[in-house]
Amino acid sequence: MHRTHNCGELRAKDEGTTVTIAGWTHAIRLHGRIAFIDVRDRYGITQATVGEDFADLTKDLKRESVIKITGVVKKKPQPNPRLATGEIEVVAEKFEVLNPAQPLPIEIEAENSDEIRLKYRYLDLRRPAMQHKLAMRDNVAASVRKHLRAMGFLEIETPLLVKSTPEGARDYVVPSRIHHGTFYALPQSPQLYKQLLMVSGCDRYFQLAKCLRDEDLRMDRQPEFTQIDVEMSFVEQDDVLSAGERLVHNVVKDVKSVDVPLPLRRISYEESMDRYGCDKPDLRFGLELTDVTYIVKSSDFKIFSEAQLVKCLVVPKLLGRKEIDRYTEFAKANKAKGLAYVNVLADGKTLDGGVAKFLTPDMQASIIEASGAKPEQTILFVADAKKACNEALSKLRNLLGKELSLYDPKALAFCWVVDFPLFEWDDDTQDWTPAHHMFTMPRPEHLQYLRTEPGKVVAQCYDLVLNGVEMASGSIRVHRQDIQREIMTAMNISEEQAKVKFGFLLEAFTYGAPPHGGFAIGFDRFVAMLEQEADIREFIAFPKNKSAECPMDGSPSLVDAKQLDDLGLALKKL
Ligand code: ASP
Repeated sequence: MHRTHNCGELRAKDEGTTVTIAGWTHAIRLHGRIAFIDVRDRYGITQATVGEDFADLTKDLKRESVIKITGVVKKKPQPNPRLATGEIEVVAEKFEVLNPAQPLPIEIEAENSDEIRLKYRYLDLRRPAMQHKLAMRDNVAASVRKHLRAMGFLEIETPLLVKSTPEGARDYVVPSRIHHGTFYALPQSPQLYKQLLMVSGCDRYFQLAKCLRDEDLRMDRQPEFTQIDVEMSFVEQDDVLSAGERLVHNVVKDVKSVDVPLPLRRISYEESMDRYGCDKPDLRFGLELTDVTYIVKSSDFKIFSEAQLVKCLVVPKLLGRKEIDRYTEFAKANKAKGLAYVNVLADGKTLDGGVAKFLTPDMQASIIEASGAKPEQTILFVADAKKACNEALSKLRNLLGKELSLYDPKALAFCWVVDFPLFEWDDDTQDWTPAHHMFTMPRPEHLQYLRTEPGKVVAQCYDLVLNGVEMASGSIRVHRQDIQREIMTAMNISEEQAKVKFGFLLEAFTYGAPPHGGFAIGFDRFVAMLEQEADIREFIAFPKNKSAECPMDGSPSLVDAKQLDDLGLALKKL
């Protein structure tokens, strides 16, 4: 037997027992021929005293070697309050080095660079902080499974080698050896397959599904990530939202002991854009935007009167010149042409400084009233095209929220954003593209606009937002072939193309498809946010770096000529 106890469980009550523990040499202090060793495993650290009999083994022992100690538990005269096992130590009667470690390439507990941490990920993961993160992920996964199963969902796996599933990203493709010249795609999500499971009558499906998307990586993106993927039959939007929020509530309760109040707030896309300038509002704080376009329309100040949209936000204090300059730079870096400001004087009725001189007393009073500004506060304006104005101000709002500590960083502010448009205009392709994906059902009363005014169609589509971050999205799906065709037509996808791409789904819809809908929660992000961590890689055992490489195993890497030959592939000379 390698151990009778782990390194986290011995206490004063175990005094006098003979135990065997095993683990890594976390720290070693030599006092002459006696060694004091901290032995570490996943469960904790236990201190051991290893006497002279074993001095030959301990004198050159390197940290992180794997050792095994059998000995008697003794109470320490001076307990170590920093360790759960700090009341005791194990006095070695037998000592064995199970595997000596070479000097390590990294100091495990040091501030190592991202690249080094990924190269030696197996060492990085030895850190108790990382062990905690993996355990947290496991905890959330277990809770998700428990609650979804209790709600009648079946966990069903869908294939990894699939026909391309359009989620708007580039596919990873896998060449077929048996059918030269053909390729599988790795799923961007199980979207089509979960819909087919509804056609099969599975009624309630879920999966902790791996999704693979070949996109440019940002801080919060990984080429492979996990979704809590859910689909339900015979549901309307409210049924799905209520199942989704119950799941979130129960999981947060399990893992954080926090009661998220239900029902979650629901905000329409339009209202969210209007009040927060984005479709992912951070509701931990107010600082809402006010549209003042109509107030300044007749101003002499052309930048205001000619802008498509003029919005402002009220900073709950007076800003100094330097701060205003800094926020102006920030607004410009976020697509706005500039940032204007005014200060509310102590009388609460007059504006001063910045662009105040261009605003008539009536305009000043209307701006103060509409924005709710109080004496001695600064109002910041962006006047620009609609998109730029909203984008710059929503980013500025988030920045101000953080810099002025307008919220408790531990707060969890969830909401549903609903009523998204079905399509967005894509400037690159000069075509309509689905705002969510093309299997999203329009509102029934908007079906009539599919051909004539696609931009007007509102979708039965929703996002779950947490603290300004999109946590999940989903929709009621199109379950009728005729509507699916219409949507494809609006996107300029011919019947022929549709058949090649998703003929199997369209055909399935002709054999009795129930109305259905679902959602998918970004699992890695959900876990990270519950732990107030911005980087999802912290919760993925073996993530890729920002160039989609794994510094540890060296992937992606070359394959040998024989493999290429088997696949019927030849590399282009670059
Ligand atoms: N498949 C969608 C996505 O990955 C989620 C859904 O609509 O259920 O965003």
